[in-house]
Amino acid sequence: MREIAAFLRAHRSFVILGHVDPDGDAIGSALGLAGMLRAEGRVAQVLLPGGVPDTYRFLPRTDEVGASLEDLDPETEAVVVLDSTSPSRLASLEPLADGSRPLANVDHHPDNSRFGAPAFVDPTACATALLLYELARDHDFTIDAEVASFLYTGIVTDTGRFTFSNTDARGLAAAAELTRLGAEASRIATRVYATHSPSSLRLLGAVLATLEVHEQGRVACVQVTNRMLEECGATSEDADGFSGLARSVEGVSVGLFFRETEGGTKVSFRSNGGVSIHGVASRFGGGGHSSASGARLPFPLEEAKARVLVAVAEHLESLV
Ligand code: 5GP
Ligand code: MN
Repeated sequence: MREIAAFLRAHRSFVILGHVDPDGDAIGSALGLAGMLRAEGRVAQVLLPGGVPDTYRFLPRTDEVGASLEDLDPETEAVVVLDSTSPSRLASLEPLADGSRPLANVDHHPDNSRFGAPAFVDPTACATALLLYELARDHDFTIDAEVASFLYTGIVTDTGRFTFSNTDARGLAAAAELTRLGAEASRIATRVYATHSPSSLRLLGAVLATLEVHEQGRVACVQVTNRMLEECGATSEDADGFSGLARSVEGVSVGLFFRETEGGTKVSFRSNGGVSIHGVASRFGGGGHSSASGARLPFPLEEAKARVLVAVAEHLESLV
């Protein structure tokens, strides 16, 4: 962490990057670090592959976030990659990690490949935003009210509103301190979790109707197809909050969410009770955390589902 602080003080201008399909932690961490750097008189630009999804557009400064290589300020000296296991998670922005600029890596994914120098990876942190909060606290970076809201957003979303198994005293203490510093805790949770467009709620109904339970109640899955999106007048972003639905079925060890995508199927793996599904996700070329991982399969939804259900069943068998 000391090396990260020194890196941030050694350069004048930064581009801050987060992973593809940016979530609350990728967005909150990147905007939060940009604010901390600007308070130090540095130039900081945020680029997120694909841009900021509508759900997070209520946050300030999201209209300043770039989405592609063309948006890069050519004067940029240094790169910071946040919340990303490897440069490939940067998708179209991966060329920025080609080594032509100094690059720092801050993350909490256990499978982070430790690319960049310095690389700071702490898998015991509930969110990358927590690491940036601790960086500010321990190395004298300023957290104003806006930065507090950004970092709070990362913590509240990566802990699933403080429900996931990564919820701990360390994250809650940071959340409390960020709230004291001006984070709008109620507004953030209301916007992310309790505000839906009519089409998104209709889609939720349609997705819930696809619920299947397998393996004597130990595996549950739901899915969304392009056709369902059309019928509900919804966009694929409207399904972003549905990855954990199947895990909420009582007694389930593994909950799955299948989404039809361009060129195949995106699978979200979620588990309960300390079952690790990371290994199953990585068998399909994905990764993530022990109880929350993802993968993209180059197969149509029904084929992807069949393959994943077999792999999950084998994995659960291997545990008994
Ligand atoms: P989600 O299912 O919400 O997309 O992702 C759950 C977790 O797995 C997140 O921490 C996310 O960053 C990670 N993840 C999702 N898809 C991939 C993937 O294709 N590769 C890797 N390495 N991690 C992923
Ligand atoms: Mn994260």
